[in-house]
Amino acid sequence: MFLEPSFRAQRSGWIEVICGSMFSGKTEELIRRLNRAKIANQKVEIFKPLKDKRYAEESVVSHNENAIESRSITKSENIYDFIDDVHVIGIDEAQFFDLELVEVCQKLALKGIRIVIAGLDMDFRGKPFGPMPYLLSVAEYITKVHAICPHCGSLATHSYRLSEEKETVVIGEKDKYEPRCRICYEMGHILDFRRSS
Ligand code: ZN
Repeated sequence: MFLEPSFRAQRSGWIEVICGSMFSGKTEELIRRLNRAKIANQKVEIFKPLKDKRYAEESVVSHNENAIESRSITKSENIYDFIDDVHVIGIDEAQFFDLELVEVCQKLALKGIRIVIAGLDMDFRGKPFGPMPYLLSVAEYITKVHAICPHCGSLATHSYRLSEEKETVVIGEKDKYEPRCRICYEMGHILDFRRSS
């Protein structure tokens, strides 16, 4: 479990990234950390990209319906409009943001703000997703959470797309994706290839 470092010796803010596949509990972990900061009377602002319209527009909601108030923004630069007196910034679904997010987070960390970011590390093709690989490079702390593969019970690291769409961003839930371990993910693609040829 992630515990915040001692604040006394810390001169700047810092960046934490929570990454993993779909259904790995990234947003729950983000909400846990942000709620603890709120209980400590720290001012918290939470952002998510406007693209993610699956749930309520003004709250980060995880799959288990744990919710926390958030702002939906279209560009990562919009974060600058809401940083007065903020101690902690949370960012959900970071993979859907523009690459500018990396610079925004670094500038805010220099100003003394703690940034907690949750996002998919890989898209459905198993490729690094949006700004996530860059955020992982510049973060002070990284937590990779895992789902469980429904086929074999191993730890799942990949998001397997069950539907036929080919675009990188297809918003959906259990009807469209399932978490898979490396082997079951690969086996799925081999079977799909055989079926289509
Ligand atoms: Zn498996």
